Order: sequence, then structure tokens, then C-alpha cells
Amino acid sequence: MTRASLSDLVASVPPSGITDTFNRAYALRQQGYDLVDFSVGEPDCETPEHIRAAGIAAIHAGETRYTPSDGTLALKQAIARKFARDNELEFSTDNIVVGAGAKPLLAAAIQSLLNPNDQVIMPTPLWASHLGMVQSVGAKPILVDTQCSNFKLTAAQLNEHTTPQTRLLMLCSPSNPTGAVYSRDELSALAEVLRRHPNIMVISDDLYEHIVFDDLPFWTLAQVAPDLSDRILTVNGLSKAYAMTGWRIGFAGGPTWWIHGIKTVFGQVSGGPCSISQVAGIAALDGPQGFLKENCAIYQSRRDYALNALRGIDGLDVRKPEGAFYIMPNCGGLNGRQTPNGQRITNSTDLANYFLEQCVVVVPGPGFACDPFFRISIATSDMVLREGLARISAAVNALVSGA
Ligand code: PLP
Repeated sequence: MTRASLSDLVASVPPSGITDTFNRAYALRQQGYDLVDFSVGEPDCETPEHIRAAGIAAIHAGETRYTPSDGTLALKQAIARKFARDNELEFSTDNIVVGAGAKPLLAAAIQSLLNPNDQVIMPTPLWASHLGMVQSVGAKPILVDTQCSNFKLTAAQLNEHTTPQTRLLMLCSPSNPTGAVYSRDELSALAEVLRRHPNIMVISDDLYEHIVFDDLPFWTLAQVAPDLSDRILTVNGLSKAYAMTGWRIGFAGGPTWWIHGIKTVFGQVSGGPCSISQVAGIAALDGPQGFLKENCAIYQSRRDYALNALRGIDGLDVRKPEGAFYIMPNCGGLNGRQTPNGQRITNSTDLANYFLEQCVVVVPGPGFACDPFFRISIATSDMVLREGLARISAAVNALVSGA
């Protein structure tokens, strides 16, 4: 142990699989490789013009100073209107907090709620950062495999894994990484179990709310079970649907004490989000919303194309995502096969490494606490999608049956 050693808590947090993949791809790109990158969870389109214009106008208007640590009143009012309009949720501005992206907001929410050894029910496959955030405060993730229930936590599973130490349920719908979307009935069934366990709080991560396919309705838990609303933090943000990843605006509505805790963390750690982005955020939430459906239709047609292509590849088993912009093929059928170099594929990490040699970047299952799966992002142009899927198909076809 040296004086420079990390704290026990941080040392216990595994690095994000997505970040690892990103770093490896970055290094290869620096060496001149022409990679097709399916690892990035970021819209490929530009932030809509009227939102960019609002940001530029904010700079000229001198909106360049510190704001309150929980966001400006004007943005919180726009968020309250959004929650009422889209989700039938009535929040006063005291029940809303804005963060520099949903990520730090989720982290502050977890930090505000959990004590070491509190248990958190986390349906898997999950978004790795949810797990890392829980681990980083010394709480205990209870991973619940949802492969057998269409990647959705059932009421029976929730009931079975609940203990007196359970403090939080983490929900994410549409899901990163699986694209699963909870129906109203499925959420109602979970709410029924939660009513019997008043100590359990819920974070509902709704970042992909506006990317739901086949005209499925989007439901969030607090809308389906308003009687539980004082136990639910509804988290959302502008990154995905509004193509504003770099602007860093996330927000949440929930009980005053929890919102206050998050605001306290922000007050000490980050301060308020970028003042210019907050003005642009108002333009995003109050301005025209038509592009949300147009973008969603584009993602849906890419989902259909990619699904069809992946289902045509021998050894992959691919469930249809109902939302978000990811597909999560089961690649267990390829375990045991050998690459042309004689390397044996034993899991999704081997497969992702092999794909990387063929210049396609995918994120292997351990990044989402599951195997044998890998995730591809379809938030990329049709041309790139076609090229990358052709490379994956050729790579799989080149595998030979193991002896
Ligand atoms: N929640 C989920 C499920 C995500 O996939 C992401 C980003 O990938 C975030 C939250 C974080 O979003 P933001 O860019 O607002 O920090």
C-alpha cells in the first residue's frame, strides 16, 4: 500500500466495460484502423436548430454566470410543464432538480439515499453506470437476471429478492442495453409488490422515453402508481431524445427530501449545470416536439434493418427491442467455435475482441452484468450500420466449429 493508493471504496468499483471498449477502439483508431463503432450510445444527428439558436442567444444575452445548484427556476418550470404534459405528473419546482447530465444526477440520488450494505434490486442486463454508482457508495447490488422474462423484472422476482435490507429498486425503461419497455400492467404488478414494502424507494431512469417503437405507449412508474409517488425519483434528460449529449442537462422529479439531498450534493460538488445549456433546455422542452417522433421513426427503421440482418447470422439469437437505440444479441451459440487464427470463442468478451480485429466495435456482456450477450448501438447512419453488420456477418461466417 502506498500513500497514492485509492480508497477501498473506489478500488472496489470495476471499470466500466463500455469505457474499456471505448478506450481500446480509440487506441486502434489512433493507429489508423477504419473502425465501425457500434459502442457509442449517442444520437448521430445534430441538436435541432432552434435549440442551438437558443444557446447562442443565451451567450449573447450574458447568461454566462453561476446558477442555483439545482438549476434555474425557469428551467425547472419548463421541466414541470414537461412532466405534466408527457407523464401526467404534477411536480412543484421544489420537487425538481437539474443536473449536468442524468449521470451525475443519478449518482447524487444514490449517494443521498443509500448507506453501506443497503441492498439495491437491479434487473440485469443493466446499464453499467447504475451498478458502478451503487458500488461506489458501498451498497450491495442484488442482480436479478431477467433473460427469461423478456428482459423485464417480474413482480414475482421483485418479491423473491426483497429483504429487510432492500432500500432501492432500479428501473430503466426503455432499457439500455436491451431496449425492453415496461407496459402499464407490468409496472402495476411491480407497484403492487412495492406497496407491501414501504422501505423501498425507486429510481425510474426514463432517459429513452421518446424512443419507443411500434406505437407502444410509454409509461413511468409514478404515473401508473401515483400513490407511490413520494417513494419514486423519476429521472430524465435531454441527451438522447433531443440529441443534446454534450450540453449536459439531466433532471428529476421526486419527493422533497430526496431532491433536497441531491441539491446538497450538487451544492458541494458540482454547482449548477452550464447556464447556457439551461436556457437551451427550456427551448428544447417548450419548443416544437415533432422531431422526436421523426427521429424515433428513423431509429425504428434502423432497428428493423439491424434485427433482420442479425437474425440472419447463424449462432445469434436476437430479441426485438421495443425502444432505445440498442440491440442485444445472445451469442451463446458461437461459444466453442474457433477464429481463423485458431482462437477459441468462450464468451462474449472473446467474441467482441475478435470483432474488434475485424474492425467492428461492440460492447461485450460483462459491461451489462450478463453473458453471453453483446450490445450494438444503432444510433449511427444507415451506411455505417450496413457496413458494420456485413463485417459481423463475415466474421461469424469465418468461424469454424471447434473440435
Ligand atoms: N441513463 C441511461 C440509461 C443512459 O443510457 C445514459 C447514457 O448513456 C444516462 C442515463 C446518462 O445520460 P446523460 O448523458 O444525461 O448523463
